[in-house]
Amino acid sequence: MKTVITGGAGFIGSHLTEYLLARGDQVTVLDNLSTGSLANLESSRDHPGFTFVEGDILDRQLVREVISGQDRVFHLAAAVGVHLIVDHPLESLRTNIHGTEAVLDACLEAGASLLLASTSEIYGKNASDALTEEADRILGSALKSRWTYAAAKGIDEAFAHAYWREFGLEVAIIRLFNTVGPRQTGRYGMVVPNLVGQALRGQPLTVFGDGLQTRCFSYVTDVVPTLVRIAEEPKAYGQAFNLGGMTEISILDLAKRTVELLDSPSEITLVPYDVAYGEGYEDMRRRVPDNTRSGELVGFKPTTTVDEIILKVAESLSAPVPVT
Ligand code: UDP
Repeated sequence: MKTVITGGAGFIGSHLTEYLLARGDQVTVLDNLSTGSLANLESSRDHPGFTFVEGDILDRQLVREVISGQDRVFHLAAAVGVHLIVDHPLESLRTNIHGTEAVLDACLEAGASLLLASTSEIYGKNASDALTEEADRILGSALKSRWTYAAAKGIDEAFAHAYWREFGLEVAIIRLFNTVGPRQTGRYGMVVPNLVGQALRGQPLTVFGDGLQTRCFSYVTDVVPTLVRIAEEPKAYGQAFNLGGMTEISILDLAKRTVELLDSPSEITLVPYDVAYGEGYEDMRRRVPDNTRSGELVGFKPTTTVDEIILKVAESLSAPVPVT
């Protein structure tokens, strides 16, 4: 199988690259190395089935060339991370909307199937007990850059759905909830590597707001095989699938558990949202997935616990950085 992974040098993309190479795919990674890195692909780069193309999904010609003659595409390239979105709203909008359109067009032209990575962010402030894929989206003002990512990803999904309906493009959508694991960096604000890194360094753990906001974390190796199963299931085309962790935990409890498990001398400090993200920031109070659809179609059932996630992330952050 000839597979392209856009964003394959990123956190999730690099795990997917390894997984598909091990399954015998020929994998071409297209990545502009903006937030991803070649170090993430250290274990893949000498594999005979691996090709790396440095480039941007906004380069339509390049995207066409890379996808031409391929069987399938996993589209993971995106501007992600709250800080990046808030600081660079225009670039994020362009990448996340025009870049995806370029990938959709190229897939159609090449006759390749597509798995589009979307996000639980699209549900916005909907704090329901369990978000099904049909749940309403509750977004704040269109003029707040905080909502830019959710808005852009919603448009991506609508584009993908329209390509499926109008042109028969074989495209499935996955909505990733808070996915965690080795190679995810705290640099763009993600909470688990941030808190674990702080605990390991003996620095105060920065919990934003009152810390009572909740999330459901899932571990990357629970999620990656499911991406492939969904991509290979024709019944998935034209649909979206939640992929999220099973246990709801507040960020304050996450911080407490991190300190306990790592036996860290660190204190926990509450940092107001304005200080963390700038004025007028709105957080999601709660985000809980209903994974029924992905469970029924491809047997998605995450098993890694929050404690295991903290320990595995701590182990990866303590390990020496591979030489590139
Ligand atoms: N957060 C925190 N401390 C940090 C980084 C994030 O308290 O150092 C909070 C953040 O405000 C949010 C939650 O942790 O409520 C998850 O943040 P992340 O950026 O990882 O993912 P999100 O769910 O916001 O996409």
